[in-house]
Amino acid sequence: MTDRDRNNIFVSETWLRWTGRTFNEEIKRGWFSAIYEDEREKTIERFFECFNERKNFTAEFRLMGSDGKVRWCLTEGKPYYDINGAFAGYAGSVADITELKSLEQRKDDFIKMASHELKTPITSINGYVQLLLNIYQDAEGEALQLSRNTVKSSLGTIAKQVVKLTRLISELLDLTKIESGKLDLNYTGFDLTEMVEEVVQDIRLTTSKHAIIVESNFEGMFYGDKDRLGQVLMNLINNAIKYSPEADSVEVYLEGDSKKASIQVRDHGIGIDKKDFTKIFERFYRAEGKAEQTYPGFGIGLFIASEIVHRHNGTIDVSSEKGKGSIFTVNLPRDFRQ
Ligand code: ADP
Repeated sequence: MTDRDRNNIFVSETWLRWTGRTFNEEIKRGWFSAIYEDEREKTIERFFECFNERKNFTAEFRLMGSDGKVRWCLTEGKPYYDINGAFAGYAGSVADITELKSLEQRKDDFIKMASHELKTPITSINGYVQLLLNIYQDAEGEALQLSRNTVKSSLGTIAKQVVKLTRLISELLDLTKIESGKLDLNYTGFDLTEMVEEVVQDIRLTTSKHAIIVESNFEGMFYGDKDRLGQVLMNLINNAIKYSPEADSVEVYLEGDSKKASIQVRDHGIGIDKKDFTKIFERFYRAEGKAEQTYPGFGIGLFIASEIVHRHNGTIDVSSEKGKGSIFTVNLPRDFRQ
Protein backbone atom coordinates (compact mmCIF):
# COMPACT_ATOMS: atom_id res chain seq x y z
CA MET A 1 0.00 0.00 0.00
CA THR A 2 1.05 3.54 -0.59
CA ASP A 3 -0.22 6.77 0.80
CA ARG A 4 -1.50 9.62 -1.37
CA ASP A 5 2.09 10.83 -1.94
CA ARG A 6 3.20 7.48 -3.32
CA ASN A 7 5.15 6.52 -0.20
CA ASN A 8 5.11 2.84 0.55
CA ILE A 9 3.28 2.42 3.87
CA PHE A 10 2.58 -1.29 4.02
CA VAL A 11 3.92 -4.58 2.65
CA SER A 12 2.61 -8.04 3.55
CA GLU A 13 4.34 -10.90 5.36
CA THR A 14 4.59 -12.83 2.10
CA TRP A 15 6.32 -9.96 0.36
CA LEU A 16 8.84 -9.80 3.21
CA ARG A 17 9.40 -13.54 2.98
CA TRP A 18 10.02 -13.26 -0.75
CA THR A 19 12.40 -10.30 -0.51
CA GLY A 20 14.01 -11.46 2.73
CA ARG A 21 13.93 -7.94 4.16
CA THR A 22 12.35 -6.47 7.28
CA PHE A 23 9.22 -4.34 7.26
CA ASN A 24 11.18 -1.17 8.10
CA GLU A 25 13.82 -1.80 5.47
CA GLU A 26 11.19 -2.38 2.87
CA ILE A 27 9.19 0.73 3.77
CA LYS A 28 12.33 2.84 3.62
CA ARG A 29 13.51 1.51 0.26
CA GLY A 30 10.06 1.21 -1.34
CA TRP A 31 8.53 -1.83 -2.95
CA PHE A 32 10.33 -1.31 -6.27
CA SER A 33 13.76 -1.97 -4.89
CA ALA A 34 13.46 -5.75 -4.99
CA ILE A 35 12.41 -5.78 -8.65
CA TYR A 36 14.86 -7.23 -11.13
CA GLU A 37 16.84 -4.49 -12.86
CA ASP A 38 15.60 -5.37 -16.34
CA GLU A 39 11.99 -4.65 -15.38
CA ARG A 40 12.44 -2.05 -12.64
CA GLU A 41 12.58 1.19 -14.66
CA LYS A 42 9.59 0.25 -16.78
CA THR A 43 7.53 -0.85 -13.77
CA ILE A 44 8.24 2.37 -11.90
CA GLU A 45 7.45 4.49 -14.93
CA ARG A 46 4.19 2.64 -15.52
CA PHE A 47 3.19 2.83 -11.87
CA PHE A 48 3.81 6.60 -11.71
CA GLU A 49 1.79 7.08 -14.86
CA CYS A 50 -1.18 5.08 -13.50
CA PHE A 51 -0.83 6.71 -10.12
CA ASN A 52 -1.03 10.22 -11.55
CA GLU A 53 -4.09 9.34 -13.56
CA ARG A 54 -5.62 7.17 -10.79
CA LYS A 55 -5.81 4.27 -13.19
CA ASN A 56 -5.64 0.57 -12.37
CA PHE A 57 -2.08 -0.65 -12.54
CA THR A 58 -0.85 -4.09 -13.64
CA ALA A 59 2.67 -5.26 -14.31
CA GLU A 60 4.76 -8.38 -14.55
CA PHE A 61 8.26 -8.42 -13.17
CA ARG A 62 10.85 -10.66 -11.63
CA LEU A 63 11.53 -10.34 -7.97
CA MET A 64 14.97 -11.05 -6.62
CA GLY A 65 14.72 -13.05 -3.41
CA SER A 66 17.33 -12.79 -0.67
CA ASP A 67 17.68 -16.56 -1.03
CA GLY A 68 18.76 -16.01 -4.65
CA LYS A 69 15.45 -17.35 -5.90
CA VAL A 70 13.95 -15.43 -8.78
CA ARG A 71 10.16 -15.19 -8.86
CA TRP A 72 8.01 -13.97 -11.71
CA CYS A 73 5.27 -11.81 -10.21
CA LEU A 74 2.03 -10.36 -11.45
CA THR A 75 0.94 -7.26 -9.62
CA GLU A 76 -2.36 -5.44 -9.69
CA GLY A 77 -2.91 -2.14 -7.96
CA LYS A 78 -5.90 0.13 -7.57
CA PRO A 79 -6.47 3.57 -6.08
CA TYR A 80 -8.35 3.56 -2.77
CA TYR A 81 -10.35 6.35 -1.16
CA ASP A 82 -11.12 7.38 2.40
CA ILE A 83 -14.66 7.60 3.81
CA ASN A 84 -15.05 11.10 2.45
CA GLY A 85 -14.21 9.89 -1.03
CA ALA A 86 -10.79 11.57 -1.07
CA PHE A 87 -7.93 9.74 -2.80
CA ALA A 88 -5.83 7.97 -0.15
CA GLY A 89 -3.25 6.01 -2.12
CA TYR A 90 -2.81 2.71 -3.95
CA ALA A 91 -3.40 -0.83 -2.70
CA GLY A 92 -2.09 -3.73 -4.66
CA SER A 93 -1.56 -7.45 -4.61
CA VAL A 94 1.26 -9.53 -6.02
CA ALA A 95 0.93 -13.13 -7.19
CA ASP A 96 3.76 -15.57 -7.82
CA ILE A 97 3.37 -16.63 -11.47
CA THR A 98 6.75 -18.39 -11.84
CA GLU A 99 5.14 -21.73 -12.67
CA LEU A 100 2.85 -20.15 -15.26
CA LYS A 101 5.75 -18.31 -16.82
CA SER A 102 7.81 -21.45 -17.16
CA LEU A 103 4.85 -23.26 -18.72
CA GLU A 104 4.47 -20.33 -21.11
CA GLN A 105 8.16 -20.56 -21.99
CA ARG A 106 7.84 -24.32 -22.51
CA LYS A 107 4.81 -23.75 -24.73
CA ASP A 108 6.78 -21.23 -26.82
CA ASP A 109 9.68 -23.67 -27.16
CA PHE A 110 7.17 -26.35 -28.06
CA ILE A 111 5.60 -24.28 -30.84
CA LYS A 112 9.06 -23.52 -32.22
CA MET A 113 9.99 -27.19 -32.08
CA ALA A 114 6.64 -28.35 -33.49
CA SER A 115 6.87 -26.04 -36.50
CA HIS A 116 10.38 -27.24 -37.14
CA GLU A 117 9.47 -30.91 -36.74
CA LEU A 118 6.49 -30.54 -39.07
CA LYS A 119 8.43 -28.61 -41.66
CA THR A 120 11.30 -31.07 -42.00
CA PRO A 121 9.26 -34.03 -43.30
CA ILE A 122 7.24 -31.74 -45.57
CA THR A 123 10.43 -30.34 -47.12
CA SER A 124 11.68 -33.85 -47.69
CA ILE A 125 8.36 -35.05 -49.19
CA ASN A 126 8.29 -32.01 -51.43
CA GLY A 127 11.85 -32.70 -52.63
CA TYR A 128 11.06 -36.28 -53.61
CA VAL A 129 7.77 -35.38 -55.27
CA GLN A 130 9.61 -32.75 -57.35
CA LEU A 131 12.23 -35.32 -58.29
CA LEU A 132 9.59 -37.79 -59.46
CA LEU A 133 7.76 -35.05 -61.35
CA ASN A 134 10.95 -33.98 -63.12
CA ILE A 135 11.73 -37.51 -64.20
CA TYR A 136 8.17 -37.88 -65.41
CA GLN A 137 8.24 -34.61 -67.37
CA ASP A 138 11.63 -35.37 -68.96
CA ALA A 139 10.19 -38.55 -70.35
CA GLU A 140 7.50 -36.50 -72.20
CA GLY A 141 5.75 -38.55 -74.88
CA GLU A 142 8.23 -41.41 -74.88
CA ALA A 143 7.56 -44.59 -73.02
CA LEU A 144 8.30 -43.77 -69.41
CA GLN A 145 11.68 -45.15 -68.45
CA LEU A 146 11.91 -44.54 -64.77
CA SER A 147 14.61 -46.20 -62.84
CA ARG A 148 12.84 -48.63 -60.55
CA ASN A 149 15.32 -47.89 -57.82
CA THR A 150 14.78 -44.14 -57.91
CA VAL A 151 11.03 -44.54 -57.76
CA LYS A 152 11.22 -47.12 -55.01
CA SER A 153 13.58 -45.19 -52.79
CA SER A 154 11.74 -41.90 -53.33
CA LEU A 155 8.38 -43.42 -52.49
CA GLY A 156 9.97 -45.22 -49.54
CA THR A 157 11.25 -41.94 -48.12
CA ILE A 158 7.93 -40.21 -48.77
CA ALA A 159 6.05 -43.01 -46.98
CA LYS A 160 8.42 -42.83 -43.98
CA GLN A 161 8.02 -39.07 -43.68
CA VAL A 162 4.24 -39.38 -43.94
CA VAL A 163 4.29 -41.86 -41.04
CA LYS A 164 6.34 -39.38 -39.03
CA LEU A 165 3.97 -36.52 -39.82
CA THR A 166 0.93 -38.62 -38.98
CA ARG A 167 2.45 -39.52 -35.62
CA LEU A 168 3.25 -35.92 -34.78
CA ILE A 169 -0.21 -34.77 -35.76
CA SER A 170 -1.99 -37.50 -33.79
CA GLU A 171 0.09 -36.56 -30.72
CA LEU A 172 -1.06 -32.98 -31.14
CA LEU A 173 -4.67 -34.10 -31.52
CA ASP A 174 -4.41 -36.28 -28.40
CA LEU A 175 -3.05 -33.33 -26.49
CA THR A 176 -6.07 -31.18 -27.39
CA LYS A 177 -8.42 -34.07 -26.62
CA ILE A 178 -6.88 -34.43 -23.15
CA GLU A 179 -7.04 -30.70 -22.53
CA SER A 180 -10.71 -30.56 -23.42
CA GLY A 181 -11.50 -33.76 -21.47
CA LYS A 182 -12.46 -35.63 -24.63
CA LEU A 183 -10.02 -38.53 -24.65
CA ASP A 184 -12.48 -41.42 -24.76
CA LEU A 185 -11.46 -44.93 -23.83
CA ASN A 186 -12.62 -47.96 -25.75
CA TYR A 187 -13.10 -50.62 -23.12
CA THR A 188 -12.59 -54.25 -24.24
CA GLY A 189 -11.15 -57.52 -23.01
CA PHE A 190 -7.96 -58.57 -24.76
CA ASP A 191 -4.80 -60.63 -24.46
CA LEU A 192 -2.16 -58.29 -22.99
CA THR A 193 0.84 -60.43 -23.95
CA GLU A 194 -0.40 -60.54 -27.51
CA MET A 195 -0.87 -56.78 -27.58
CA VAL A 196 2.71 -56.28 -26.31
CA GLU A 197 4.01 -58.67 -28.97
CA GLU A 198 2.10 -56.83 -31.70
CA VAL A 199 3.47 -53.45 -30.68
CA VAL A 200 7.00 -54.81 -30.42
CA GLN A 201 6.63 -56.46 -33.81
CA ASP A 202 5.65 -53.11 -35.38
CA ILE A 203 8.62 -51.36 -33.79
CA ARG A 204 11.01 -54.09 -34.89
CA LEU A 205 10.11 -53.25 -38.50
CA THR A 206 11.41 -49.72 -38.04
CA THR A 207 14.55 -50.31 -36.02
CA SER A 208 17.60 -52.28 -36.97
CA LYS A 209 20.09 -51.42 -34.24
CA HIS A 210 18.23 -52.46 -31.10
CA ALA A 211 17.06 -55.94 -30.28
CA ILE A 212 13.77 -55.70 -28.40
CA ILE A 213 13.55 -58.51 -25.90
CA VAL A 214 10.17 -59.42 -24.43
CA GLU A 215 9.61 -61.55 -21.33
CA SER A 216 6.13 -62.25 -20.08
CA ASN A 217 4.55 -64.37 -17.39
CA PHE A 218 1.17 -62.74 -17.77
CA GLU A 219 -1.70 -64.97 -18.75
CA GLY A 220 -5.37 -64.54 -19.48
CA MET A 221 -7.53 -61.58 -20.33
CA PHE A 222 -6.93 -57.94 -19.53
CA TYR A 223 -9.61 -55.22 -19.63
CA GLY A 224 -9.00 -51.68 -20.86
CA ASP A 225 -8.40 -49.71 -24.05
CA LYS A 226 -6.14 -51.92 -26.14
CA ASP A 227 -5.12 -49.28 -28.70
CA ARG A 228 -4.45 -46.59 -26.11
CA LEU A 229 -2.36 -48.92 -23.94
CA GLY A 230 -0.55 -50.03 -27.08
CA GLN A 231 0.19 -46.38 -27.74
CA VAL A 232 1.67 -46.02 -24.23
CA LEU A 233 3.94 -48.99 -24.78
CA MET A 234 4.92 -47.81 -28.24
CA ASN A 235 5.89 -44.45 -26.79
CA LEU A 236 7.97 -45.99 -24.00
CA ILE A 237 9.82 -48.34 -26.36
CA ASN A 238 10.38 -45.63 -28.97
CA ASN A 239 11.81 -43.38 -26.25
CA ALA A 240 13.97 -46.24 -24.96
CA ILE A 241 15.42 -46.64 -28.46
CA LYS A 242 15.72 -42.92 -29.14
CA TYR A 243 17.52 -42.13 -25.89
CA SER A 244 19.97 -45.05 -26.10
CA PRO A 245 21.76 -44.62 -29.42
CA GLU A 246 24.86 -46.45 -28.19
CA ALA A 247 23.02 -49.47 -26.80
CA ASP A 248 21.88 -52.50 -28.71
CA SER A 249 18.95 -53.78 -26.69
CA VAL A 250 15.75 -52.71 -25.00
CA GLU A 251 13.92 -55.06 -22.66
CA VAL A 252 10.20 -55.31 -22.04
CA TYR A 253 8.93 -57.25 -19.00
CA LEU A 254 5.32 -58.10 -18.49
CA GLU A 255 4.10 -59.51 -15.17
CA GLY A 256 0.91 -59.80 -13.25
CA ASP A 257 -1.53 -61.75 -11.15
CA SER A 258 -5.30 -62.00 -10.90
CA LYS A 259 -5.59 -58.34 -9.84
CA LYS A 260 -2.94 -56.37 -11.68
CA ALA A 261 -0.47 -56.16 -14.51
CA SER A 262 2.86 -54.42 -14.73
CA ILE A 263 4.78 -53.51 -17.87
CA GLN A 264 8.38 -52.47 -17.61
CA VAL A 265 10.53 -50.99 -20.36
CA ARG A 266 14.27 -50.86 -19.73
CA ASP A 267 16.97 -49.19 -21.74
CA HIS A 268 20.72 -48.70 -21.40
CA GLY A 269 20.87 -45.12 -22.62
CA ILE A 270 21.59 -41.60 -21.45
CA GLY A 271 19.38 -41.87 -18.35
CA ILE A 272 17.42 -39.17 -16.55
CA ASP A 273 18.40 -36.90 -13.71
CA LYS A 274 16.50 -37.57 -10.47
CA LYS A 275 15.19 -34.00 -10.38
CA ASP A 276 13.34 -34.68 -13.65
CA PHE A 277 11.61 -37.92 -12.58
CA THR A 278 8.20 -36.32 -12.13
CA LYS A 279 8.68 -33.38 -14.51
CA ILE A 280 9.07 -35.52 -17.65
CA PHE A 281 5.40 -36.52 -17.35
CA GLU A 282 4.32 -32.88 -17.59
CA ARG A 283 3.24 -31.20 -20.81
CA PHE A 284 6.10 -29.94 -23.01
CA TYR A 285 8.78 -30.87 -20.50
CA ARG A 286 12.04 -32.05 -22.02
CA ALA A 287 15.13 -32.71 -19.92
CA GLU A 288 17.73 -30.04 -20.49
CA GLY A 289 21.34 -30.77 -21.28
CA LYS A 290 23.79 -30.90 -24.12
CA ALA A 291 23.08 -34.54 -24.88
CA GLU A 292 19.29 -34.22 -24.61
CA GLN A 293 19.08 -31.32 -27.04
CA THR A 294 20.24 -33.47 -29.92
CA TYR A 295 17.18 -35.77 -29.73
CA PRO A 296 14.11 -34.67 -31.65
CA GLY A 297 10.83 -34.59 -29.75
CA PHE A 298 7.89 -32.60 -28.52
CA GLY A 299 7.85 -33.37 -24.82
CA ILE A 300 4.24 -34.52 -24.95
CA GLY A 301 4.53 -38.29 -25.45
CA LEU A 302 4.95 -39.10 -21.75
CA PHE A 303 2.25 -36.62 -20.78
CA ILE A 304 -0.21 -38.43 -23.06
CA ALA A 305 1.03 -41.81 -21.81
CA SER A 306 0.54 -40.84 -18.17
CA GLU A 307 -2.96 -39.52 -18.89
CA ILE A 308 -3.93 -42.81 -20.53
CA VAL A 309 -2.48 -44.82 -17.65
CA HIS A 310 -4.21 -42.66 -15.03
CA ARG A 311 -7.50 -43.02 -16.87
CA HIS A 312 -7.03 -46.78 -16.34
CA ASN A 313 -6.51 -46.13 -12.61
CA GLY A 314 -2.89 -47.09 -13.06
CA THR A 315 0.47 -45.51 -12.29
CA ILE A 316 3.54 -44.76 -14.38
CA ASP A 317 6.98 -44.21 -12.84
CA VAL A 318 10.57 -43.97 -13.82
CA SER A 319 13.80 -44.93 -12.14
CA SER A 320 17.07 -44.11 -13.77
CA GLU A 321 20.71 -43.34 -13.39
CA LYS A 322 22.44 -40.78 -15.59
CA GLY A 323 24.53 -42.48 -18.23
CA LYS A 324 23.36 -45.94 -17.26
CA GLY A 325 19.79 -46.19 -18.53
CA SER A 326 16.18 -45.89 -17.48
CA ILE A 327 13.34 -48.14 -16.36
CA PHE A 328 9.76 -47.06 -16.98
CA THR A 329 7.12 -49.05 -15.09
CA VAL A 330 3.41 -49.01 -15.77
CA ASN A 331 1.19 -50.61 -13.13
CA LEU A 332 -2.40 -51.31 -14.08
CA PRO A 333 -5.37 -52.96 -12.42
CA ARG A 334 -6.38 -55.96 -14.48
CA ASP A 335 -9.85 -54.57 -14.93
CA PHE A 336 -10.08 -50.90 -13.97
CA ARG A 337 -13.87 -50.86 -14.06
CA GLN A 338 -14.22 -53.36 -11.25
P1 ADP B 1 10.02 -36.30 -26.25
O1 ADP B 1 9.20 -36.14 -27.49
O2 ADP B 1 10.81 -35.09 -25.90
O3 ADP B 1 10.83 -37.56 -26.25
P2 ADP B 1 8.45 -37.38 -24.01
O4 ADP B 1 7.25 -36.78 -23.36
O5 ADP B 1 8.28 -38.74 -24.61
O6 ADP B 1 8.91 -36.33 -25.10
O7 ADP B 1 9.61 -37.41 -22.96
C1 ADP B 1 9.87 -36.26 -22.16
C2 ADP B 1 11.36 -36.15 -21.84
O8 ADP B 1 11.74 -37.23 -20.96
C3 ADP B 1 12.28 -36.28 -23.03
O9 ADP B 1 12.46 -35.04 -23.68
C4 ADP B 1 13.56 -36.79 -22.40
O10 ADP B 1 14.29 -35.74 -21.87
C5 ADP B 1 13.06 -37.66 -21.24
N1 ADP B 1 13.02 -39.09 -21.55
C6 ADP B 1 11.92 -39.82 -21.85
N2 ADP B 1 12.23 -41.13 -22.02
C7 ADP B 1 13.55 -41.24 -21.82
C8 ADP B 1 14.49 -42.35 -21.82
N3 ADP B 1 14.11 -43.59 -22.08
N4 ADP B 1 15.78 -42.06 -21.52
C9 ADP B 1 16.18 -40.79 -21.25
N5 ADP B 1 15.36 -39.72 -21.23
C10 ADP B 1 14.06 -39.93 -21.50
